[in-house]
Amino acid sequence: MTDSYCLWCHRSLKYESTLKNLFHIDDVLCEKCRQSMEYKPKKIKVHGIEVQGLYIYEGLFRDMLIQYKELYDEALFPVFLWKVKQELERKYRGYTIVPVPSSERKNQERGFFTVERMFEVLDLPILDLLYKTDDREQKKMNRRERESIYSHLELKDVKSIPDKILLVDDIMTTGETITAAYRKLKGNSKCTKVLICGYNKAFSGNSVPSFVYKGGIVGYNICKALFIHGKAERFYKKC
Ligand SMILES: [Zn+2]
Repeated sequence: MTDSYCLWCHRSLKYESTLKNLFHIDDVLCEKCRQSMEYKPKKIKVHGIEVQGLYIYEGLFRDMLIQYKELYDEALFPVFLWKVKQELERKYRGYTIVPVPSSERKNQERGFFTVERMFEVLDLPILDLLYKTDDREQKKMNRRERESIYSHLELKDVKSIPDKILLVDDIMTTGETITAAYRKLKGNSKCTKVLICGYNKAFSGNSVPSFVYKGGIVGYNICKALFIHGKAERFYKKC
């Protein structure tokens, strides 16, 4: 086994050398941290689009994503997809990854592209095909502005668009952004699949959350509350 350390708790990974994981690929996290992440793969329908989600945005996964994304801890980039790398590469062989763009100003502050870096773990080509025409962060937009995300996304002028696209994002809070990005790509590629690393707990049940309705979201404050506290039920039951 390796002498390296868990990227989250910094515990030495050499003590992880059990017979079971000798036959598995090495991990960048210790078994305790890995098991504490809410890995719950789920196919979610949002606005008629099928989205493959991997983790519930809760607990340790949420802490890691905040540390990575908001505190600019780039070293955490492999923790999210490392363990499912081989499985995802098999499932999406032949696809080109297209990340949902984030704010250019935030990218410059961070010094790295959060979504792109996270998905670089997979041995699949990445094409930066979409860009934002309005650089404000979504959490700073009001309801009406959030509902028009579609008009703030554009396709880059590239020579050719791949036939098979895997549209990816780090988190799905309401489904608005991923739906807008999907609709921009639709008609330009033969096949588009959607993969999201973390999804709002409100999507973990069998029914569609009531904040997802025909064309938009119920309100900015609800989305903000969902994102910050992850207390989905409390809010969407009120709507
Ligand atoms: Zn650990």
